[in-house]
Amino acid sequence: MNELEMAAAKDPVCGMDVNREIAAAQGLTAEHDGETYFFCGKGCKLDFTEDPARYFDPSYEPHM
Ligand SMILES: [Zn+2]
Repeated sequence: MNELEMAAAKDPVCGMDVNREIAAAQGLTAEHDGETYFFCGKGCKLDFTEDPARYFDPSYEPHM
């Protein structure tokens, strides 16, 4: 695994790979149940923080 892969996290809302360092630098992170989640943009972060449970539902399919 290279450095780039280690830095990547999956945006739970849209399914995109997100660079953790870049997302953190832009404030595109949210805490939920002690875990930190990373987002590609403000829209996804907002969607997640409004209704986190929706994105943990196994039937939820990430999409843009
Ligand atoms: Zn996203």
